[in-house]
This record gives sequence, structure tokens and C-alpha cells, in this order.
Amino acid sequence: MAEKVTLVGGGLSGGLLSVFLARKGYEVHVFERRPDMRQGNYQGGRSINLALSTRGIRGLEKAGIAKDILEIAIPMTGRMMHDRAGNLAYQPYGKEGQAIYSVSRGALNIRLLQLADAYPNIHMYFDYKCTFCDPETGITRYTDASGNAVEDKADIVIGTDGAFSAVRDAFMTSRFNYSQTYEAHGYKELEITPDENGEFRLQKNSLHIWPRTSFMMIALPNPGGNFTCTLFMPFEGENSFASLNTPELVTEFFKKEFGDVVDMMPGLIDDFFGNPTGTLVTMRCYPWVKQNTALLGDSAHAIIPFYGQGMNCCFEDCIVLDELIAENEGNWSKALDAYQKARKPNADAIASLAIQNFVEMRDLVGTEAFLHRKHVEHDLTELYPDLFKSQYELTTFHTTPYKYALDMGAKNDKLLNHIIEGKLEDRLTDRTFMEYLIQQMLAD
Ligand SMILES: Cc1cc2nc3c(=O)[nH]c(=O)nc-3n(C[C@H](O)[C@H](O)[C@H](O)COP(=O)(O)OP(=O)(O)OC[C@H]3O[C@@H](n4cnc5c(N)ncnc54)[C@H](O)[C@@H]3O)c2cc1C
Repeated sequence: MAEKVTLVGGGLSGGLLSVFLARKGYEVHVFERRPDMRQGNYQGGRSINLALSTRGIRGLEKAGIAKDILEIAIPMTGRMMHDRAGNLAYQPYGKEGQAIYSVSRGALNIRLLQLADAYPNIHMYFDYKCTFCDPETGITRYTDASGNAVEDKADIVIGTDGAFSAVRDAFMTSRFNYSQTYEAHGYKELEITPDENGEFRLQKNSLHIWPRTSFMMIALPNPGGNFTCTLFMPFEGENSFASLNTPELVTEFFKKEFGDVVDMMPGLIDDFFGNPTGTLVTMRCYPWVKQNTALLGDSAHAIIPFYGQGMNCCFEDCIVLDELIAENEGNWSKALDAYQKARKPNADAIASLAIQNFVEMRDLVGTEAFLHRKHVEHDLTELYPDLFKSQYELTTFHTTPYKYALDMGAKNDKLLNHIIEGKLEDRLTDRTFMEYLIQQMLAD
């Protein structure tokens, strides 16, 4: 039985996984590159809000902190679309009572680390940057804040060090499949401030979207009455981060494109030129396990953020690994192999879903055809809840495998095409006809 497990990276995956493993009695050592964010040095500026949904909540529940986190999260029951004229269109995400939750990345990470403090068998080291990993021996090396080299040896090493994983570098030998695809778009964090009474200036319980085809802005609510906005736009070309290179151009652009909220963004110019421009990458690789070293979370499968599922998927990784260690009675070799086999198809599926949703949010979300399609889909979910579940619902509000959601989404698309192209909308309430149609078209 392994005694000591080293986690490289104390972010969201590392924080949650450390708790799962400590509960099983392992000695868990977490090495984190950044300073200890519990000391108040958390840096925003890189999308500080995340949409937490059913899979992620389940991970937090299993770790016993869902209640704490949901207390500081804001439910978002639908998308609120803003057109250039400031007209609003609202689409519920799911049924009555279903919501996704806006939560601060920093608050969540801090809470996970605080929770880890309760376990004497979790040992955390901050300001330790991993520079080397040897899967044969379980040796990892770090540079600490003073520049000293430090070595660690463990029975099991897990790379929870994110999309640009140092642990993954040790996997880059023959028969390791690896690909990374960058989007032409980047992202920048901006802010809509509260009004003079500290209240929300936009509808609080929505994820706001300004879809503009080649670029878009989204805004998620925070408990302080402000919204964290993320502007997604191309790095180069017309309407790009490169072309908006003076305060005047940025102001003019925002007045034209986001005129209904530009006056609610007093820090726009400082934020635009002060905050970093993030990149968007889909990273796929396999295998995720080499000897007694494994990858988990973004280090194994970084995805673009347009389904709001990256962290949710990472938390699901933690649940699956936890269950497989129990199932295999602590035999790590079997558990890790079963983990990678179980998770890889689902990680690939959510990566594809995120890319699909990028196109949907960017190009389609504001169009009439799209809104109509969403209405038909919504009617089907309301009228035939046992027979029809939207892909969004399966991905966001269920824990059915992502691969199933991807496959069902393709079938749902055919059904929706059939209804819309056949102008069958007025038969949506004809139960005998519709039940037959749904069963026929969604059958295997
Ligand atoms: C703009 C944006 C919006 C997003 N929105 C959502 C959302 O709404 N919902 C959602 O579910 N997901 C979202 N995500 C995805 C989510 O942020 C990631 O999936 C999640 O953070 C991955 O967690 P992780 O712990 O695996 O990696 P990370 O969060 O990247 O954490 C890795 C940790 O490892 C540390 N580290 C890195 N290198 C080293 C090293 N060499 N040595 C030691 N430590 C190291 C880092 O400092 C960090 O603490 C979004 C992502 C982006 C970019």
C-alpha cells in the first residue's frame, strides 16, 4: 500500500484531491508554485469567476464543503442576452429551480486549502516550483522562494499543476500522444461595478452575454454587487486586442458594442490595458499514467471555458479516482489504470462540447433561428421530461458521462432539425405523435 502521495499543484484539483486522499489515510504532500493565497495575496485579473454546476457540486459535497461554497456563490438560472440596442432576451438554463453558480475562483481555492488544514496528514509547501519529475522513482524537484533546490520522493506522484504541467513534461517520451490547439481568440477580465448603494446594476441571477459574432463579452455576478466580465476576442485583425491599442479606440468600441453597460465600467481603460490577455487552449494527451505518476485535472485535459465545465470535470476526476482506489482496495496500479480509461473518453467529449459551445455562444446565440431552436428545445424538456433531455441539461445538471451528453446532443440535433424544418412546432403538444417521434429519433 502506498503511504505517501505527492501532489504537484495546489490549485482547484490539487486542493480537492488532497482532501479525498487524506480521508483515506494517505500522507499527502502538496507542492504549490504560488505563495499561500490564504495569506491574502490572491491575484485576480484572470477570470476570477467560475460557473459551478452539478458535477463540481458533487465533488464538493463528497469533500464536505458544498454548503460552505454555495453560501458564497450566486445562482444563475439562465442566460441574459444583450443586443447592440440594449434589448434583452432571457433563456432559462433548465427547469424551474435549476441553476449554475457563480463562484470566485480565489474564494473557492482558499476554502479548499483551509479545509485541507483540518487534516494533519496533509502537508502543504508554497512557493515551490516543480522543475523535475521522474516517474520511475517518484522523485520530484522544486525551486523554493529563496532559489534553493529541494527534492521529494513519494510512492505516488500526481500532477495537478494545470494546463502547462511540469509533471507532464516527464511523460513526453515515445508513445505519448499530445496535442494542443490554441484559439485565435484570447480573453481579458473587466468589471461592471455595483451602483452607489452597492446593488447589482444588471439582473443578478443571470449569466449575461453580449454576443457579437467574432467576439463576445460575458458577465458573472459576485456577492459584492459587481460583475466580473470576460471579453473574448481575436488577438489579431479587425476588432482585436491588437487593434484596440489606445484608450480612445477602446472607449469608442465599447460605446458601440456594449453601449448599455459601458457607463457601468468606470475602470474599463485601466482594466483593459492593465489586465493580462489570456490564451485559450485545448490540450489533449494520453496516457495519463506512467509507472506511479499520473496526471489529473487540467494537466491531463485542458479545455476552453465555453461550457463552464473545466473545473467541474476536474472535480469529477477526483471523485472517480477516489472511488477506484476504494474499489481496488488501495492497489494504485490498478486504480490509476482504471481511472485513465474511465476518464479519457469523457475528457475528450467535454473538450468537443466546449468547442461546440464556443461557436454557439459566439456566432449563434443572438440570432432569431437560434432563439427559436432553443424555445423548441425548452418546450420539449418541459413537455416530455422523461423522454427528452437537452445536451446542456445532461452536461450541466446531471452526472451522466460527458460522452453520453455528446452523443445524445447529436441525436437531439437531428430531432430538432426534423421538427423545425418540417414545421412541426404546432404539434409539440400532440403527445401521441411527439412521444413516438422522440422515441424513434433518439433510439440507439
Ligand atoms: C477564462 C476561464 C474561465 C473558466 N471558467 C470556468 C467555469 O466557468 N467553470 C468551470 O468549471 N471551469 C472554468 N474554467 C476552467 C478551470 O479554471 C480549470 O479547469 C481549473 O482551474 C483547473 O484546475 P487545476 O487545479 O487542474 O489547474 P489550475 O487551476 O491551473 O491549478 C494548477 C495549480 O498548479 C500550480 N502549478 C503550476 N505549475 C506548477 C509547478 N511547476 N510547480 C508547482 N505548482 C505549479 C499553479 O500555481 C496552480 O495553483 C475556466 C478557465 C478559464 C481560463
